[in-house]
Amino acid sequence: MKISILTITPEFFQGFLNTTIVKRAIDKGRCEIEIIDIKSYAHGSFRHIDDSPFGGGRGMVMRCQPIYDALQEICDEGSHKILLSPKGTTYTQSKARELSGKKHIVLVCGHYEGVDARVEEWMDEQLSIGDYVLTGGELAAEVITDSIVRLLDGVLREGSATEESHENGLLEYPQYTQPREFNGQSVPEILLSGHKAKIEEWRLTQSLLLTRKHRPDMFEKYGLSDKEKKLLEKADKE
Ligand code: SAM
Repeated sequence: MKISILTITPEFFQGFLNTTIVKRAIDKGRCEIEIIDIKSYAHGSFRHIDDSPFGGGRGMVMRCQPIYDALQEICDEGSHKILLSPKGTTYTQSKARELSGKKHIVLVCGHYEGVDARVEEWMDEQLSIGDYVLTGGELAAEVITDSIVRLLDGVLREGSATEESHENGLLEYPQYTQPREFNGQSVPEILLSGHKAKIEEWRLTQSLLLTRKHRPDMFEKYGLSDKEKKLLEKADKE
């Protein structure tokens, strides 16, 4: 898969492309990540990428011409074009899964007051990473790229990505490692028992309890099986 990121600050991605999972995915040939400098597509000696808004108002708006020319050069029919915007649909793990199956994803990062609204019409969708406003789309592009790349075959160890929070509609159970005792806090006895089935049951119960506590919206949507209902009832009594 290929991910193209259109930005006015290409230097922003230097560390990102050279660390951890993303670097591993690139090194393994699982994905190609291309950073496109929008400024290099701007016309004229001043290479204007922004201008004041028609109708007046504060701030500057990104001009559509450099973005249009960049898209013309890098996209084909198989490209899935995404504008990063606080006005977009909220990004989720299921969207990450869906995008991980695409051949070419193009992420357009806005800045200033955002992009000329005509750009929106050239996009396949607009995505927001949450209900807050960032200075630019670059952090959102990194969030989306990271979450997609870790789902690509051969990037993480088998099963690592499918057992995580949000994958099955629940939050992940608590995890512990050495030492068994630290600062008066000990690892739950069951995890040291070696009893696989009991550990699985404990983990599922913890997932259900955590989701109910921290994300009642998710819990409400999750269809509890009879076994899960019983596990919760038992936990509630304890
Ligand atoms: N004036 C815009 C508004 O009120 O909707 C906000 C513009 S914001 C300062 C600049 C750019 O940051 C946006 O064009 C977008 O690309 C990016 N951005 C800001 N918040 C975002 C979010 N929650 N998710 C994705 N991108 C975001």
